Formats: sequence, C-alpha cells, structure tokens
Amino acid sequence: MSKIFDSHSHYNDSSFKDDYKEILQHIQDSGVGNVINVGADIESARLAMKQADENDFMYFSAGIHPHDAIQARDEAIMAEIEEMLKHPKAVAVGEAGLDYHFDDSWSPELQQEAFIKQIKLANKYHKPLIIHTRDAMQDTLNILNEHPLESGVVHCYSGSRESCKQLVKMGLYIGFTGVITFKNARRAIESLKVVPLDRLLIETDCPYMAPEPNRGKRCDSSMLHFVAQKMADELGLTKEEVIRITNENARRLFKIK
Ligand SMILES: [Zn+2]
Repeated sequence: MSKIFDSHSHYNDSSFKDDYKEILQHIQDSGVGNVINVGADIESARLAMKQADENDFMYFSAGIHPHDAIQARDEAIMAEIEEMLKHPKAVAVGEAGLDYHFDDSWSPELQQEAFIKQIKLANKYHKPLIIHTRDAMQDTLNILNEHPLESGVVHCYSGSRESCKQLVKMGLYIGFTGVITFKNARRAIESLKVVPLDRLLIETDCPYMAPEPNRGKRCDSSMLHFVAQKMADELGLTKEEVIRITNENARRLFKIK
C-alpha cells in the first residue's frame, strides 16, 4: 500500500524543536513515507538540509520566501542557496513567490525580483520551484508567463478556479493543504476539481494549516489522512487512491525514485 507523501512541511520550524525526534517517529508510524522539508530563508534552508541529511525519508528545498525577499539581493546568500542545490537530497528551489497580504511586507518590486531570480535558478538546476502566492495571483501569472518555469508546484492553493486552470496549462502541479477541510473551503474545492489527477499534491504546510478536526492545533504530516480523505470524498475516489496518486505525482515532480 502506498504511503503518504507530504510535499510541503517545515520541520525546521522552532515549534518542532522540543519534540522533533518523537514527531518524526510518530508521522512515520502513522503511514507517512516521505516529506519535503521546505526552506524559506537562508537559516531555515540550512536547517532543512541538515535535517534531510539525518533522516532517510526526508528531502529538502532551499529558497527565499517573499517575506524575506531582501535576502535574495545578498550575493553571498544566493551563492550559498545555489551550493545547497547540489546536495543529493535537494529536490526543489523555494519556497519563493509573491505575498501581498501584509501591508508591512517587502515591496512588490523587490518580491518580484526575488521570485524571478529563483525561477531562473530552478531552471538552471532543472529542479521544480515551490511557489508561494497570496493575494498576488495576477502578478504571479504575469511573471510565470514572461519567465516560463520548467517545472513547479503552486503550494497551498488559494486562488480562483480560473487561475488554477491557467497554472495547470503552464504544466504546474497544485498542492492542497488542510484548508480543503475547512467549512469555508468552497473556492479551494472548486479549484481542486479542475486539476488533472496527475497534477495533484497533498501537503501540510505544517506547523500551519492543521485540517479539521484539528484546526488551530500544531499540524504535522500524520494529519494528511484527513486531507486525503476529504480530497477522496470530493473527487469520488478512495483515500488509498488519493494517497497513491499524490505519492506518484510527488515522486515524478521531485524526481525521487
Ligand atoms: Zn511553506
């Protein structure tokens, strides 16, 4: 039977510091086969790499989140990120993208510059880009049209169905989190239904986005059972089919045997 593939997690987050070993054992006992540990700035990318080195079932990505877009202007940081991509367990660049949700974040211009730099880096190393986009879909689409990606995933999808169709047309995968289990998830569910089965991923984005009935708690990959079940219910599949399909998709995208 297939195991769960968590395509987006942050076990490098400080909220896992106290029970890190126990939680990694717990998620594997619960049927999770692999996780991608995502870097979001230089410090978290370093830790993601170290943790992936220590755990067979874990892979990592290195990149700069829009919240830390200024780091992408630092040549030493970008050189170090590039060096990390040569690590055998570095399977993606990111997370990178645009986030206009908060008024006090970096300017759209600075965020766009960091995003484009990382699109180029992903293409250079033939690795997928993990894209974060929040309240910035039109600019995200424009940039991806101007700077086509070889491969990538839009994680924690929160946009419209129409935008989702455009992203799929570009060849991208779409990742869904515990958000699809929330009561107000109508938009995410509508989008879910237009994604071809071979482009679907499940992810926790843990420690955030815990699915119902654990909403508000610290999330971990074992909770993907709820996400897979909800996805199965909406798509007329079994939970086991969703787990198998999303596992195969993640392996194809991240080039993991
Ligand atoms: Zn994330």
